[in-house]
Amino acid sequence: MIKYVLVTGANKGIGKAICQKLVNEYPEVHVLLASRSKERGEAAVKDIASDRVSLVEMDVASDDSVKAAASQVKTTIGSVPLYGIVNNAGVGWNHKLVDVVNINFFGTKRVCEAFGPLIIRPGGRIVNIASASGPMFVNGDCHQMPALKRTFAEPLGGSIENLVDIAHRETSIENAYGFSKALVNAYTALLAKESPDLIVNSCTPGYIKTDLAPSGTSTVEHGAKTPVKLLMDPAFNDIPTGRYYGSDGVRSPLDRYRGPGDPPFEGP
Ligand code: NAP
Repeated sequence: MIKYVLVTGANKGIGKAICQKLVNEYPEVHVLLASRSKERGEAAVKDIASDRVSLVEMDVASDDSVKAAASQVKTTIGSVPLYGIVNNAGVGWNHKLVDVVNINFFGTKRVCEAFGPLIIRPGGRIVNIASASGPMFVNGDCHQMPALKRTFAEPLGGSIENLVDIAHRETSIENAYGFSKALVNAYTALLAKESPDLIVNSCTPGYIKTDLAPSGTSTVEHGAKTPVKLLMDPAFNDIPTGRYYGSDGVRSPLDRYRGPGDPPFEGP
């Protein structure tokens, strides 16, 4: 059966490479390539050059845009459920805290909520693109904020509502990007707990040379590997979900950096 996969922020960078890899390697997948710009999205669809890619216009920063996109997708896929979502859209260090949190954290949450009802259950998959900046924020920036550190290090003791409160309340965090990605990882754990019929995980793609990280040391093709693995590998049907993975596809802790090749995180 056809597997529809939505990839957000997919007009360039890692998102576009994820779409390309899905089209190249999974003939059953039809990619819904989401872009906030129609023109940039059309250009990406043209580059990928496959009849298994369709454009979805969606600005993850806007409730209205995300709801309209979900209703467009519902019409496009008809009675076929969505197989998966890759929440990839993101912004980096050159944006204000409020915008970084709105796009990286609330954007992920908005998309999960609007598209959640379209996903196949059981077994539908959600992959949230976080970053090593998340665990590094928890280990470093949270040093003087033990309650925040606990929330991010042990998210299952809290709730999604609590994360939303924190995201609105913490208005003076300097490391906006790391904060937003720690929120994404905690949200992933809580969403997985709330949705035991779905397979929900997060990962870092690695340090990838893109407009967001011009000094990145690896290629977008490398950055697409772990997100696609979390989305497609049957092995994830049989292991607990709500976990965070390193760019080498190995489970990693939420509260400290684990480098590629380091031993897997085995904690709770
Ligand atoms: P990128 O090349 O700058 O791509 C970011 C994508 O997100 C673009 O398509 C951008 O669209 C889209 N986007 C931004 N704001 C959006 C919004 N409000 N609504 C919809 N789309 C939006 O960066 P990238 O490196 O590929 O980043 C992809 C993801 O990987 C991000 O979540 C990033 O945090 C994460 N990540 C990257 C690295 C790295 O080293 N590159 C490391 C760790 C994590 P426009 O073209 O319209 O701006």
